[in-house]
Amino acid sequence: MNLVEALPQAGCDGLAEAVIDLAAIQANVHRFQRVRPGLEVMAVVKADAFGHGMIPVARAVLAAGATWLGVARAEEALQLREAGITAPILVWLYGPDDLELLQDVEVSIAGLAELEQAAAAPNVRSVHLKLDTGMHRGGSSADQWIELTQTAARLESEGRFRVRGLWSHLSHGDEPSGVHNQQQLDIFRAGVVLARRAGLDPEYLHLTNSAGTITLDAPELNLARIGAGLFGIDETGAGLQPAMRLSASLLKVRRIRAGEGVSYGHDYVAERDTTIGLVPLGYADGIPRGVQATVLVRGVRVPIAGRIAMDQFVVDLGDLPATPGDEVVIFGNGSEGEPTAADWAGWAGTIQHEIYCGIGARVPRRYLDPAENTGSPR
Ligand SMILES: *Cc1c(COP(=O)(O)O)cnc(C)c1O
Repeated sequence: MNLVEALPQAGCDGLAEAVIDLAAIQANVHRFQRVRPGLEVMAVVKADAFGHGMIPVARAVLAAGATWLGVARAEEALQLREAGITAPILVWLYGPDDLELLQDVEVSIAGLAELEQAAAAPNVRSVHLKLDTGMHRGGSSADQWIELTQTAARLESEGRFRVRGLWSHLSHGDEPSGVHNQQQLDIFRAGVVLARRAGLDPEYLHLTNSAGTITLDAPELNLARIGAGLFGIDETGAGLQPAMRLSASLLKVRRIRAGEGVSYGHDYVAERDTTIGLVPLGYADGIPRGVQATVLVRGVRVPIAGRIAMDQFVVDLGDLPATPGDEVVIFGNGSEGEPTAADWAGWAGTIQHEIYCGIGARVPRRYLDPAENTGSPR
């Protein structure tokens, strides 16, 4: 036998999979398009589309009407272009060496140094100036904004590049009643006035993320940067749908006696004779270690027994008549009684974003084609 051919293909062992419902992602795009007529959606597909798979998600959101893609890193933009995706892309974190690699990609400019670098890179044709309106992370300080916009206007008039957008990022997008959003909007509006006074005429003004797009009323914003919301992370009760369902196949089932301990350190000791099952997913696959969690087997929630290991964990099945090969649902949209990523985030003391982004590369992604999808989660 050819030994190379006999090797299992990475991620094709059938032990676990993340099924991504592209129709759910598309419905989430439509939810944001409905916020305001004429509002364009920039689908933020950074970090492998929050673990959902950047290229298939990018294709699905563009087919659903998103007009822009947003990514954090230059490498991500390059991968999108290599996949043949031609939609406009904005990149906001890059080093000076990245600029010459980026062909036909739009970059964020947050200061004079970046502006000069971009002006020196012949392939940078279009930029978005970023004002810090209160997040205090990236973005031009207010003191530098006038000089930045004036210099950018001069470079634009010299034909160096087009200043296509002005933008900023909210620090409290998910708090509709907070004063922060309104303050940041006011500062952004002042920044836009100053930029126009400097001679700029940007095509796009964008400030809000998913939650802020739902909560902040600002009709002049014509582009919304939507990440979390695409994947059903619903911080504002907007009716978004989770798109990822993580499941594994039960590998082994056995009885243990009362008093026997399970997994490293025997943190779990069976109180009575019980059936335990082995699930082939661990913290290397993004299952948070050290949580008290339940998963769904044969329609019943069963607890994880003992410590989660790198590649596997054990569930206490009680007297459930489970057999190897049974499906174990780690999380989904909750429609079958399974936990959701929001449940896991609560158990792990984190946010859903981190749960989704953490699902490891070893877990194969399988895509439900919107055309074939009948609306059921599987
Ligand atoms: C990640 C990111 C977004 C998306 O925010 P969500 O809350 O996930 O919608 C938007 N803008 C910037 C600059 C980001 O880094």
